[in-house]
Amino acid sequence: MTERLLWSGVILAWLGVVFIQAQAPQPDGAGVERGVLPRSWPTGGPKCMEQPDWRLHEYNEDFYIIRESGCVHYEKPFLYLIFGKDKVMLMDTGAGTTELAAFVDSAIARWLQRKKKFMVMHSHGHRDHVARDSQFKNKSGVDFIAAEIPEVQKAFGIKNWPVDVGRIDLGERVLDVIPIPGHHPVAVALYDRRTGVLMTGDNVYPGRLYISDWDAFVKSTQRLVDFTKGRIVSHVLGCHIEQTSTPYLEYPIGSIFQPQEHILEMSRGQLLELNDALAGLKGPQRVALRDMTIYPLDPAVLDQMKKTREATESGQRQTQWQQPVTH
Ligand SMILES: [Zn+2]
Ligand SMILES: [Zn+2]
Repeated sequence: MTERLLWSGVILAWLGVVFIQAQAPQPDGAGVERGVLPRSWPTGGPKCMEQPDWRLHEYNEDFYIIRESGCVHYEKPFLYLIFGKDKVMLMDTGAGTTELAAFVDSAIARWLQRKKKFMVMHSHGHRDHVARDSQFKNKSGVDFIAAEIPEVQKAFGIKNWPVDVGRIDLGERVLDVIPIPGHHPVAVALYDRRTGVLMTGDNVYPGRLYISDWDAFVKSTQRLVDFTKGRIVSHVLGCHIEQTSTPYLEYPIGSIFQPQEHILEMSRGQLLELNDALAGLKGPQRVALRDMTIYPLDPAVLDQMKKTREATESGQRQTQWQQPVTH
């Protein structure tokens, strides 16, 4: 018994030095593949006719981020296209109904010289992330994983949902799949071991973190923090931006044009801040943090959101071209 205690102490001390803080011994890039993020992203407008439906950003040569234009849909989500040796993976299909498959095909064609496997999976099952599923489902050569718990469990080898961590192997590129229900029942975070990027879907991003199941969300955030212990996290990348670049200030729901929006990337520090804030709350409560807002949902909030969104969106569509361009 004493020996076992001693050994666990030794192991914990070792973990503490090497792993617990997700640190690297030198500021030399920590051994993960590097990439570049833009200082700001086009959002949509002010003149929608000038805006392409999609913007593709090459984080590095095997990791692309695609943003849907706010002119197509006010949610203007981020999609992720990640290349392995054997397989290409698309996370999410966006919010609107315009053509995506051809755009993705051309991006893949530019990357590929020979045919590889292509997988489509989802950060979670909300409509603004699965809207173009029909363009990929049943398409030959596409390994399509629907946003359903049994399918996600089977595809990624997650035995006990949501506590086990699964994996996706794209060929010399492994992504860990961490179930994070709470915003949506079928939500996962992905950790790309090659870049150290943690993709957190709609659970963590600079904006309104809508929570439909409080207890599940609190537990998922803690599991995400636990997962990052011992891992290098280069960026925490979510699927939206709703925050302005001014601390504690958001854009209203339904905003199409966001000329001064917050940057996309967050850090493990902000994840810890979120976890800390959640741990200090007794139950569902709205709390604005510097870069994001804890935003529990109830029927009254949902109703209010719907009205605000409709009013803001219809108002903005008429007047957005009058807004000053500042980026
Ligand atoms: Zn969502
Ligand atoms: Zn979303």
